Order: sequence, then C-alpha cells, then structure tokens
Amino acid sequence: MSQYYLTDDGLEAFVSSLMERRDVWAPVVKGSRFIFDKLVEVGELRLDYDTTILPPKKMFFPPKQDILEFDGGQAKTPPAPEKKVLLGAHPYDLRAISMTDKLFEMNYADCNYLGNREATTIIGMNVQNPYEHSFFSSIAQDMALSGHDAMLTRVAGGYVLELITEKGMKLTDGINLAAATPEQIEEAAAEFEKSEKSAPFELPRNASDIQEKVRGSFDSEIWKELSEDCLSCGSCNIVCPTCYCFDVQDEWGLGAANGKRYRRWDACLTSEFSRVSVQGGSENFREDKHERYRHRVMRKTAYLNEKLGAPACVGCGRCAGACTPGIADPVKTIKRIMES
Ligand code: SF4
Ligand code: SF4
Repeated sequence: MSQYYLTDDGLEAFVSSLMERRDVWAPVVKGSRFIFDKLVEVGELRLDYDTTILPPKKMFFPPKQDILEFDGGQAKTPPAPEKKVLLGAHPYDLRAISMTDKLFEMNYADCNYLGNREATTIIGMNVQNPYEHSFFSSIAQDMALSGHDAMLTRVAGGYVLELITEKGMKLTDGINLAAATPEQIEEAAAEFEKSEKSAPFELPRNASDIQEKVRGSFDSEIWKELSEDCLSCGSCNIVCPTCYCFDVQDEWGLGAANGKRYRRWDACLTSEFSRVSVQGGSENFREDKHERYRHRVMRKTAYLNEKLGAPACVGCGRCAGACTPGIADPVKTIKRIMES
C-alpha cells in the first residue's frame, strides 16, 4: 500500500494524466444536481458533490445493455469493455458495489456485469458534503470497505491518495508523486472517520433489531398506511445503488432472422413488475401497491441480509430525494415500523 500527497493543482495534473490514458468517469454538475459522467475537461470534476442522481452502478450494469446479437444460427456477444476509471465514489456507493459484486458472482456469474467491473479501476473519495437525505453513518458500517483500488481523502490544502490494489498501483505509472508524510496520513484517517459520521439522519436501531421487527410486520396493516400515496413510479428502485432487477428482451430485424438481445433495468414498485404468464392468461402476484412497497422494504432490511452480511441499503438517501409523495425514505419508514 502506498500513500501520496497531492495539492489541488497536483490532483488536476494527476487526473489529466489519467484522462490521456483512458476514460475517467467522475462526479460533474447536471443542473442543480450531480451525475457520474465521462470527464471531457478536468475542470468539470466536482469531488465536493453531495450525491449523484444515479449511482455509479450504471457503469457496470447500464440502464440498457446489449447481451448478444444473432443472425440466422449465429450469435455473438458485444466486444470486451474498454478500460476506464471511476473516480470519486463515496464509501456508501463502494459498499453498494461490493454488494452487487457478490450478487452478480453468486450462482451463475454474470459476465456482462463482471466484464465491466474488471475493466474499471475504482478510486473512492471521502464524503465532503453529505446529501440532505443520507443516513450512511448508521447502516452497513460494520461492512469493511472493499472492491475499490484506491482512495482519495480531502486534507488541508489537498488530498491523500492511497493506492490499495495492483490495479490501483498502475494508476501512477510514469507519474512522480510526493509521498504523504505520517502527519498527512494521520490527518487523512481522522478526516475519513469524521466524514463517515457526517450523515444528517440515522436509523433508530441496529440492523438485526430492524430485520426482526420488519419481518414480523409482514401481515400488519401498516403497509397500507405507508404506501397510501405511492404512485408506483419505481423511482426509488431506479436511483438505488443496491437494486439490480432487470428484464431481458429480444429485438427482431424486419426479416425475423436477425436481431439482438438486451436487458434493461426493471423496478419492483411498478404495477406490472410481478405479472407472469399462466395458462390461459397472466397473473400479478403483487397486484396491490402495499404488497410492492412492503416487498422493497423487506428486500432492503430483511431478505438479503444473510446473503450480503449487511442490509441491502447503504444509506445514500437517493430514494428519499427521488420520491414525489415523500414516502420512500427508509429512515421514516423504519421508524414508523419500529414504533408500531
Ligand atoms: S434504499 Fe434508498 S437509501 Fe438505501 S441504498 Fe437504496 S436508494 Fe440508498
Ligand atoms: S415509493 Fe415513491 S418513488 Fe417509490 S414507487 Fe412509490 S411513489 Fe414512486
């Protein structure tokens, strides 16, 4: 493991040199918010962002992704992804990426996701300005950070850059950086710890108490009350870094001999998500919005805990900000369930 100190100008020079070698995706301004996008100029970089509209999972698991092309009896997969860098992912998003890594490696390894993951070198960044709806300090904190290749931490006058993996070490190939002093390393550790505690909201209890209470509330009438204003829009799913459902579709050419297969994000809160074919028609096994709302909360707080070793929520707060009627905030929902 190596640690370097970069001044603000030094960081710009470092990022510029990365951009000469490969695409660098990082937080940039979009209207009044931020998004992860391919940097065109280093000046666009906004490492002081609060959160992004969509999480960085879109780089590994894009909203629409071609899986294969077919022509007659022949099929071919898309070309291997280009190497790129994801710069500036906050720790809660790194935890979410570790979770999706596990889920896409489980059972049948998903080469479409894992190919993008392998091609990407991830540089994390401590939170400088917590998002107004976030609660990351009180959830999934027992889960050790992993899966990233390097970490940047803001310190006085610059940044400490820690290179963690072999992929991370390659980021500085051909670049001379000044080693961080013990004082700068100590300052970075203290700043990192402080930023991990900076979320404005917190959950009322620990993960296992929440898991037990939520599971025990399955038959409660509370789900109807909580979901009364739900528009079934699916926004809470779409912005979530740990949601990973998708739908696979084929698109045929005019002669019905060739075409392509792609997948696109799906959302369990939408009314048709649970419709399946049955003999003579179809059936929707989560017809009512309270069943869909309950399913999302169960997935996040109870169902996936054993598989992931933590709740399938990292406290980013994106769902709370994206929900028009204001009912998707896990902190408010869990508080209400715990009090019931
Ligand atoms: S459920 Fe909400 S707060 Fe939790 S990870 Fe998903 S979007 Fe973030
Ligand atoms: S909880 Fe909110 S964001 Fe989620 S589907 Fe319902 S209205 Fe949309």
